[in-house]
Amino acid sequence: MKKDLCEIERMAHLKEEENQSFMIFLKGCDHFKVDKIVHKLNEKYLSLYDCTKCGNCCKQLAPSLSQEEILEITDFLNITYEDFIEKFVNRETTNGFILKNQECPFLNKNKCSIYEYRPEACRSFPHLHKDNINHRLLSLLDNIHICPIIYYIFEDLKEIFKYTPEKTT
Ligand code: SF4
Ligand code: SF4
Repeated sequence: MKKDLCEIERMAHLKEEENQSFMIFLKGCDHFKVDKIVHKLNEKYLSLYDCTKCGNCCKQLAPSLSQEEILEITDFLNITYEDFIEKFVNRETTNGFILKNQECPFLNKNKCSIYEYRPEACRSFPHLHKDNINHRLLSLLDNIHICPIIYYIFEDLKEIFKYTPEKTT
């Protein structure tokens, strides 16, 4: 876990093709086995990696929020729902409301200023404790250059499954 975020980004771009082909390989593996291994690796890296010193997802990904989550935050911030929508929301999608800026407006000196009320999308990211990893490989790959935990788990998986780039089944 020594590489800094720029190096992770650089390496992830370099390995883009390899990771694409590893994703295809992984899709052919036992889904339950993949989930079990990833959950274990996730626990390992969450204990090794201090997200408060990274915050890269808060800087590069706009989370989605539900109406209920917005109401909790507006209560906490003591602003109206309408003000929140006008000031912070970019658009509404089927997954909820998306914040305006890529760098979250609630990030303050690398800390979440609404931590107790942060949306589920933030609590759960990078979603590696959940089942059905094999069905979410594409979205994980989308964020592999942002999140060191995803990056290292992919690297570990290659070793565990003895993957070599030529191996596609
Ligand atoms: S709400 Fe908090 S945890 Fe979520 S992206 Fe913003 S700063 Fe990060
Ligand atoms: S989840 Fe990933 S990107 Fe977000 S703070 Fe933790 S290590 Fe960084």
